[in-house]
Amino acid sequence: LVVLGIETSCDDTAAAVVRGNGEILSQVVSSQADLLERYGGVAPKMAEEAHSQVIDQVVQDALDKANLTEADLSAVAVTIGPGLSLCLRVGVQKARKVAATYQLPIVNVHHMEAHTLVARLCDRDLQFPFMALLISGGHNLLVLAHDLGHYLQLGTTIDDAIGEAYDKSAKWLGLDLRKSGGPAIEELARQGDAQSVKFSVPMKQHKDCNFSYAGLKTQVKLAIESKNIDAGIPFSSASMDDQRLRADIAASFQRVAVLHLEEKCERAIQWALEIEPSIKHLVVSGGVASNQYVRARLNEVVARNSLQLVCPPPSLCTDNGVMIAWTGIENFRLGRFDPPPPAIEPEDCQLDLRPRWPLGEEYSRGRSIAR
Ligand code: ATP
Ligand code: FE
Repeated sequence: LVVLGIETSCDDTAAAVVRGNGEILSQVVSSQADLLERYGGVAPKMAEEAHSQVIDQVVQDALDKANLTEADLSAVAVTIGPGLSLCLRVGVQKARKVAATYQLPIVNVHHMEAHTLVARLCDRDLQFPFMALLISGGHNLLVLAHDLGHYLQLGTTIDDAIGEAYDKSAKWLGLDLRKSGGPAIEELARQGDAQSVKFSVPMKQHKDCNFSYAGLKTQVKLAIESKNIDAGIPFSSASMDDQRLRADIAASFQRVAVLHLEEKCERAIQWALEIEPSIKHLVVSGGVASNQYVRARLNEVVARNSLQLVCPPPSLCTDNGVMIAWTGIENFRLGRFDPPPPAIEPEDCQLDLRPRWPLGEEYSRGRSIAR
């Protein structure tokens, strides 16, 4: 079994070839870092154009690096959601073209399920059921993974995701955005005093497992303004004093942003163990899971609760084609795939794109306990 995975849901164009036994034959990512830097965020139309320009080359590179041609593939897996529909379309059209030409089955993949399941490629002993914290640019999810395709959502964000808060904070602090906001804040925070700015931890009084990062984002903006930091001046051109202030804000922001994760994870673990006492693992995945501070703090939470942390390596936490190919493999094995598309698709063919696509059903604790 050899599967090609294609991912274009946001700003990275990614493809990879993975074998059924989990061997990664190739992995290619083309990121839109220069666009992100220029526009300070993802502009859908621009992102779509960027995907269209590189998709053929990215897929070709993935095949070349794997030393294979399309004819050697068993199936094509592609992200159909959630994400920006203009961007998803580029990947889905490419996948269908390859699948139609070489008569390959297609596996439709949920981007957040892929962030979750890639942990099973990294740790082959990871069995269902397990818990997952998915933290990225657009999502902040706590789920109980019962089985493939069967998830219970314990918590989500009521506004922004943590990655969005990292990205905006980095922009307002005038950091170099070529490597995306998260890593820039992580690096700067190492030089700052995490106790110096007193940000309040979100949702402390809420006895649920939901998140909120919009308020913390505003707190960061206000702190920057109150300290008279001129965000128009790039970090590298700022004075030493100004750089120190920025590092203090970055460190204080990171401490509180992650404390919020710790508190909600702690509660979600209790909830999950009530539902499924056999849970042994917490998977932490999505772009923000590549952060070393996040990993270290969550490792402590997990250890306190006698669970084990499974965290994919950074290259598999941020968007990548491997997680799509692997999720394709897991689904393919259970017969969950579509037949090859017709060789000639009508121009107006309706593609199955799911820009908004929840991962599993929402859990309501009160209702479930009453039952
Ligand atoms: P989603 O998965 O919700 O659709 P996405 O696909 O854009 O969002 P990912 O690639 O999974 O996101 O994650 C990107 C996010 O991860 C960005 O917000 C980025 O700043 C953040 N990120 C990446 N590395 C780090 C890091 N070292 N520390 C903190 N955040 C990070
Ligand atoms: Fe993602």
